[in-house]
Amino acid sequence: MRTAEIREKYLAFFEGKGHLRLPSFSLIPENDPSLLFTSAGMAPLKPYFLGAKPIFGGKEWRRVTTCQKCLRVGDIENVGRTGRHNTFFEMLGNFSFGDYFKKEAILWAWEFLTDPKWLGLDPERLWVTVYEDDDEAYAIWRDLVGVPEERIGRFGEEENYWPGGAITHGPNGPSGPCSEIFYDRGPAFGTPDETGPNTGSGDRFVEIWNLVFTQYDRQGPIPGPGILKPLPQKNIDTGMGLYRVAAILQDVEDFYRTDTFYPIIERVALYSGKPYQGKASVSHRVIADHIRAVVAALSDGVVFANTGRGYVIRRLLRRALRHGYLLGLQEPFLHRLAPVVAEVLGDFYPEMRENLPAVERQIRLEEERFLETLEGGLKRLDALLSGLKPGEALPGGEAFRLYDTYGFPLDLTVEIAAERGFGVDTEGFQKAMEEQQERSRAAMAFEREIFKKSAQVLEELYAEKGATEFLGYGALEAEGTVLALLAGDQSLPEAGPGTEVQVVLDRTPFYAEGGGQIGDFGHLEWPGGRAKVETTQKTERGLFLHKAKVEEGVLRVGERVRAVVDPARRDTERHHTATHLLHAALRAVLGPHVRQAGSLVAPDRLRFDFTHPEALTPEELERIELLVNRWIVADFPVTWRYMPLEEAKREGAMALFGEKYGEVVRVVRVEGSPLPGVESKELCGGTHVRRTGEIGAFLIQKEEAVSAGVRRLEAVAGEAAIRFARGGLNRLRALAERLSVGEAALEERLEKLLHELRQKEKEVESLKARLVQAELKKEVALAEKGGLRYGVVELSGVDVAALRQAADDLVQRGADVALVLGGGQAVLKLSPRAQEGGLEAGALFRALTERAGGRGGGRGALAQGAGLDPEKARQALPEILP
Ligand code: ATP
Ligand code: MG
Repeated sequence: MRTAEIREKYLAFFEGKGHLRLPSFSLIPENDPSLLFTSAGMAPLKPYFLGAKPIFGGKEWRRVTTCQKCLRVGDIENVGRTGRHNTFFEMLGNFSFGDYFKKEAILWAWEFLTDPKWLGLDPERLWVTVYEDDDEAYAIWRDLVGVPEERIGRFGEEENYWPGGAITHGPNGPSGPCSEIFYDRGPAFGTPDETGPNTGSGDRFVEIWNLVFTQYDRQGPIPGPGILKPLPQKNIDTGMGLYRVAAILQDVEDFYRTDTFYPIIERVALYSGKPYQGKASVSHRVIADHIRAVVAALSDGVVFANTGRGYVIRRLLRRALRHGYLLGLQEPFLHRLAPVVAEVLGDFYPEMRENLPAVERQIRLEEERFLETLEGGLKRLDALLSGLKPGEALPGGEAFRLYDTYGFPLDLTVEIAAERGFGVDTEGFQKAMEEQQERSRAAMAFEREIFKKSAQVLEELYAEKGATEFLGYGALEAEGTVLALLAGDQSLPEAGPGTEVQVVLDRTPFYAEGGGQIGDFGHLEWPGGRAKVETTQKTERGLFLHKAKVEEGVLRVGERVRAVVDPARRDTERHHTATHLLHAALRAVLGPHVRQAGSLVAPDRLRFDFTHPEALTPEELERIELLVNRWIVADFPVTWRYMPLEEAKREGAMALFGEKYGEVVRVVRVEGSPLPGVESKELCGGTHVRRTGEIGAFLIQKEEAVSAGVRRLEAVAGEAAIRFARGGLNRLRALAERLSVGEAALEERLEKLLHELRQKEKEVESLKARLVQAELKKEVALAEKGGLRYGVVELSGVDVAALRQAADDLVQRGADVALVLGGGQAVLKLSPRAQEGGLEAGALFRALTERAGGRGGGRGALAQGAGLDPEKARQALPEILP
């Protein structure tokens, strides 16, 4: 049975049992920056286990079934080692949100596995396990299904509780006992100590399906012991490994021989000339596994990077490249496997087919980059390992240098060292890494320097007074007291005119740079004095530093000042809210793979970077722009409130991956939308307009690439948008004036001018041709050597076609060897007589370039090239004739 058929049967079976079939969710977890990748079918559905209403397509569904793309970084080391672990794999699942429970889950699993209408597996080969205390599940298996007791095992919380070991070790939250179904592939697959599930180290008893009975809320200290409070709503969460079942049904040794993997394995064998020999061919397996994970992740919008998800796939790609290298593949080859992956998976995951061209390109660039240094790094590592005595470990500093200079991820170095029997000092690696980060931090701008040196002052200040109170969500002006004045690493009691200081206030309306929004500028005033604030930053602890210059009077610690933010901040707010709307519009128009990858919000413009594999079309840009403007004209209120992070995520607020959020977060939302189902709701600490109408207008200025897979939009809002549009209109008018027509006639006039230009070009061309003709008509004196007549012609202002024509002409007029030069090019032509005499144009031409410089070649009667010195060529021709 083909893998696609198993997938379809599963989903159809559970549809028949009242489940809603949902497409796979993205590999990038929505709204959960703490998770790297979706690693199980239940992960994207978590909110519904916790009580959120499962509404899909406007209807409530308490039963759902999916085939979910999963990526488990933790299984990297198992790949190639076991025959049942992948990094990227597909998990089939059926889920109940407070609907059916253990009995149905177990009976249906059994029916699906054993009924000949469905998978028809031999019941005698199926074994099951339950959690040690779960008498209920045990009884269902024994009495209702009829599994003999010797094939039902009871295990502890490590094996049969989910999450594994949660009772003792945490985490808190929804959890429960589980029951696993194993298939016995027979002694040939096992080790002698493998006598049942969870024994031995072979592949005989394969776990194919895990049924999790989510019935408790684990609470208590971590580590435990925790207490298990029954959940008001009991859930079912199951996960079946598609490829494991496929391997069994296709009766192949390991799943690399199933129809999903073998086409890739075959390509690897073809490219490398090394056949696949099952377990022995670890490199084939690693490559096949990793390229699938890389293609899947890139198709969902991940881009290669040095941190987070992007680094995971970079590591996978580099590891695969190194295994290719072991097979003798020294040129980029992984991108050639990407279409095979898309071919195998694209029917079910159309995004893999749609994004293929961009994915191939990204892989190719990444391969080229790493291959440049791979060989050097391998040599260096080889030399280092050869210098080690048995039992020694590779020093961490060296591992770091390999990382820093050759791009070797740590786990790659560890893997190669282990193959030669050595360890790696990974702690030393981390230390070297931190030292380097420290150095580059120290080398950063002057401002940072201040932060560091005055750290002590700030730390004391914070301990005494706490963080600065921010008042700027509403007002632009407020009174505050000066807590400290910092200059360099000095803390000053006062600052006179002309002094540049960082002013720390107890409360302030100035927004400190963060979340893409620039720091506020403005001024401070007090009786008899005034200071200009250039920008505002804040320390990690939340003390606001106003970078200021005293203009008049003396500013003293303890002074009450009036802090006045420049009204340009209102323009910044327009751009900030517009950024949120843009983000929502991009996702609505382009799809949910769009993720913010950076942003800048300033009074005069906004810049927004996001993941998307290719350039946006003019139509897409227009739709996005229009959607944002519809939000604006609808004049919806913009509101914000604080809430626990968990709650914000559950409500679907957009969070940024890699951002650190506290327990309590601020959620900014626009109360309304021009498009049903699309909303703008983001975790954000920035300042915003009160109603969308304040934004006024929104125009996209340009769209461009930042790096592979990341696009950048620049746009303007409010007055800046008006100015931008006005500027364009003015240019148009100026152009019309230059061309002395009304604006309406501009296009017509331009067409006419272009037409005239083309006419003129044609005239020039024909004049040139006539000149050449005239030139050719002139008698060319042919000379003779060894019975061969030869002639040289020089033409000016012509192309190669004309040179060739001239050479033909010359041969027609009796030359045996014709050389025509012009415009930096040269053509050499032989008569049939010369060829019969043994001459060959290519050889002759090369002989010519040896004397006259340039390059080129040809064969038979014709050769051509460029860069020859005409004078030398003229002289050399008779010399090289026989
Ligand atoms: P194992 O102990 O074999 O690693 P697991 O306990 O981690 O499995 P679950 O988290 O219960 O597995 O996942 C549910 C099902 O998904 C498993 O029964 C298995 O069939 C499949 N599965 C889990 N990990 C992988 C993997 N790395 N590659 C392929 N299939 C997997
Ligand atoms: Mg596992």
